[in-house]
Amino acid sequence: MNLRHFAFASAFKAIVATRAHRWARGLSQGVGAILMLHSVRPWQGHAFAPNQLLEITPEWLDEALALVRSEGYDLVDMDEMAALIAGPRRDRFAVALSFDDGFRDNRDHALPILRRHRAPWTVHVTTGFADGTAALWWVELEAAIRALPRVTMTVAGRILDHETHEPEAMHIAFDEIYWALRARPEAELRNAIAALGAEAGIDSAALTHNLCLDWDELRALAAEPGLTIGAHTKTHMMLARHPLVDRSTTWPIRLATRPRQARASSRLPVMPASGRR
Ligand SMILES: [Zn+2]
Repeated sequence: MNLRHFAFASAFKAIVATRAHRWARGLSQGVGAILMLHSVRPWQGHAFAPNQLLEITPEWLDEALALVRSEGYDLVDMDEMAALIAGPRRDRFAVALSFDDGFRDNRDHALPILRRHRAPWTVHVTTGFADGTAALWWVELEAAIRALPRVTMTVAGRILDHETHEPEAMHIAFDEIYWALRARPEAELRNAIAALGAEAGIDSAALTHNLCLDWDELRALAAEPGLTIGAHTKTHMMLARHPLVDRSTTWPIRLATRPRQARASSRLPVMPASGRR
């Protein structure tokens, strides 16, 4: 029996926000759910926040974990979840927590809450983010559009040209550029956003370093009881586009999640839960 991969992060947010009763009953035909989370930080208050679907607030995490506990579900680590997938118990519903990419706010904002709820958790680290060598291109695109008064680029022979003074115009620009580039080869996407970021004066390496845990911080965090560190590729490449994955690694990898960029449009609030062994 396979674990169902629930595309319910946004629905879960809404359910927790409204404290809907027995939120997971409808999901509990499966053995459990893996919450695929990213940033955990106080709401930044930006009217233009196209990557909002990739963050939750500390309050949300606290309420979600309280709800999981109050419903009597098991909070399990990824190894236990894998065991449940292999041999599900019918009587228990389990929840596992995956924090992808290696954001520093996981330590600063999520950790105290996870400790309080005694919740096991896994940080799936993109090693290039820890190095500061890989680009958080979707964040960089957001930052560039926020910084520039006008965004112009040519994608597949089509000129995309947006004035970006107002949040709504910024959202439209982001959606159009994002999806136009997503249809192109990954190198083209990354190069185009790097060029736009440079035009906006964004230091891509500094942006990554400001948001992600570095190796010293990861080493210190790794001693945390209940925390597992898993892999999430070197560069956060779109694995579906790369059938030949570079298997060279210096870490013994037991757990990995596959980067699968959420549909970052505010109109498409779907985020796949893709924790996998
Ligand atoms: Zn990721």
